[in-house]
Amino acid sequence: MTAPDPLAGDPEVARLLAEELDRQQTTLQLIASENFTSPAVLYATASVLTNKYAEGYPGRRYYGGNAIVDAVENLARQRACSLFGAEHANVQPHAGANANLAVYMALLDPGDTVLAMRLDQGGHLSHGSPVSITGKTYRFVAYGVTPAAADGTGERIDLDQVADIARRERPKLIVAGTTSYARIIDPAPFRQIADEVGALFMFDAAHPAGLIAGGAHPSPVGIADVVTFTTHKTLRGPRGGAIVCRADLAKAVDAAVFPGLQGGPLEHVIAAKAVAFAEAAQPAFRTYAADVVANARVLAEGLAGEGFRLVSGGTENHQVIIDLRTFDADLTGQSAQEVLDRAGITCNRNQIPDDPRSPFVTSGLRLGTAAETTAGMGPAQMTAIARLVGTALRAPDDAGVRAEVREEVQALCAKFPPYDVPATAASPATLSVGPVAGSRKGAGTGG
Ligand SMILES: *Cc1c(COP(=O)(O)O)cnc(C)c1O
Repeated sequence: MTAPDPLAGDPEVARLLAEELDRQQTTLQLIASENFTSPAVLYATASVLTNKYAEGYPGRRYYGGNAIVDAVENLARQRACSLFGAEHANVQPHAGANANLAVYMALLDPGDTVLAMRLDQGGHLSHGSPVSITGKTYRFVAYGVTPAAADGTGERIDLDQVADIARRERPKLIVAGTTSYARIIDPAPFRQIADEVGALFMFDAAHPAGLIAGGAHPSPVGIADVVTFTTHKTLRGPRGGAIVCRADLAKAVDAAVFPGLQGGPLEHVIAAKAVAFAEAAQPAFRTYAADVVANARVLAEGLAGEGFRLVSGGTENHQVIIDLRTFDADLTGQSAQEVLDRAGITCNRNQIPDDPRSPFVTSGLRLGTAAETTAGMGPAQMTAIARLVGTALRAPDDAGVRAEVREEVQALCAKFPPYDVPATAASPATLSVGPVAGSRKGAGTGG
């Protein structure tokens, strides 16, 4: 029995969705901010809740018919609070950037000073980049990482610098959190500095949220005044953002999200967030978080063995950041990304600290293990991936080498497909909303 395909009447979109599913099934997904959600999360995301307008919050909506939606959103909020041990949760931010902007709106006035990490040192656009609304609205001052050291002890967040700048600039808010940084971020010293200068402290856990939920990284909840995160990176939920905070900040945070910044919430995504929070509370997710970190360590060791210099000398999270310059002085992040893409290895170029090249070209690559660990890959596969990356990048212009790597990648992916559906000719409808919903392969226990 096959399920009726709801997209049968739109072959153009149906074909594109099938092609994307096929791409995810047959190439390596090493983008550090990506993951494979469960079929349950996909199902909730594709639900009829997308039809509902629900401006406001549970019990205080501007439209009728919201009793069920209220229950959905309350469930998501309760599960977020319970997962992170938080007093209050706002699950409405459409994305991580919105969550950050909402917190700035809640805590700051335009022109106020904020201390955050510089973009080219590992920070995020929404931490005050001049091209972002955040940088145009508030006065951001920036800290960075310590210089690179031959013994691998450098390129850590420079806490002395954080303290010095905080004492000099007296920011109203200090932000911790990174996009491209392979180390644990200890929230405690940030709290100390914030207290010393009378600043508020926001921890942006967009990347490590799943590692925190799974107990692999220290939790900033209860230490930072506000914690923002994305639900789609290591947390493995639908694409979106969330905020948890102390009860006394709840009103300001909620008002900043709606009506301050957004209109109607995406209740279908909020239902999927609720599903993901429950999944992340399972014992299997603790194993997953530990496996993600263990896999990254093996991947890092393998890449070092291939002759790449690792920014900060290694990893303590899901990311490995490569400095390509010692491997090949002429190889840019841009061309390395393209070479790997053609070989079926999907990752992204990234600036490294004090990168001499532009953000569009870069001298670095960022790899992550969150997605392929979900697909069930373990240390043996990480070692193989490191070798394939080295092989492909040593011969960037050799089509024969590329074809060999592509073939090995394909064989690897065939053994660890993220979704339990036929690799080709799979209709996404059967995966997300059909009665024969595919199950996702790995429980993330490695293998
Ligand atoms: C990914 C990320 C964000 C933004 O998330 P979006 O959902 O893409 O808006 C914010 N902060 C940090 C540190 C991130 O890594």
